[in-house]
Amino acid sequence: MPLFQPDSFIVADVVPSPTHDERKGGAPDMILLHYTGMQTGQAALDRLTTAASRVSSHYVVFEDGHIVQCVPESLRAWHAGVSFWAGEADINSRSIGIEIVNPGHEFGYADFPLRQTAAVISLCKSIITRRGPISPDRILAHSDVAPARKQDPGEKFPWELLNESGVGHWVRAAPLDLDGLALHPGDHGDAVARLQRTLRNYGYGIEDTGRYDDATKLVVTAFQRHFRPARVDGIADPSTLLTLRALVETRPAPLA
Ligand SMILES: [Zn+2]
Repeated sequence: MPLFQPDSFIVADVVPSPTHDERKGGAPDMILLHYTGMQTGQAALDRLTTAASRVSSHYVVFEDGHIVQCVPESLRAWHAGVSFWAGEADINSRSIGIEIVNPGHEFGYADFPLRQTAAVISLCKSIITRRGPISPDRILAHSDVAPARKQDPGEKFPWELLNESGVGHWVRAAPLDLDGLALHPGDHGDAVARLQRTLRNYGYGIEDTGRYDDATKLVVTAFQRHFRPARVDGIADPSTLLTLRALVETRPAPLA
């Protein structure tokens, strides 16, 4: 792909990726956040712009806030892989992908520098302002849409800060170690089915089998990474259940 005009003035560089195709089903209405999970940002950018890797992203945000665009927003980048949210499986068609440079869990998971987070917030705001509203509950983690495969951007990602800046749907997590009902892997029954239905209604890809199986544990883990990051263990403790309920109750009304 030749050089193209960046979609936003806050883009510092364009490094075109050959990995893209046409979107299906209209304009994107989600933003998907990732970490790069490689030792350096440059290594990640090389991978995301090399045909043989068959992955790409619309944007890469470096630790110092430098933003590189690799695929025009109008085209489908290949960042989500096998994924699901709110009844849809072609998340690449539905979303704009932002790769945030961080070594990730494999190479020494680092705190996200404030400068980098500020750039991610500005970029999300620029996308929303230019493209029209994107529902806050559709600004998601890769782990939300692929809980069995992905952990990124992970529990260190400052979703609270994004929310304070008007980006994304988030509630303050309930305190840890409350008394009350807890659901554990291996449990079964109506309470487990209710938990599964609540997670599915929010968007997660989960069946209401009534069995707290491995898939359920992975979805609860993904939920915790995003919404109750103080303890990420896949156990639906009272804090996790209360946080989920608060999240559902404060969910923004669907866009017309
Ligand atoms: Zn990812």
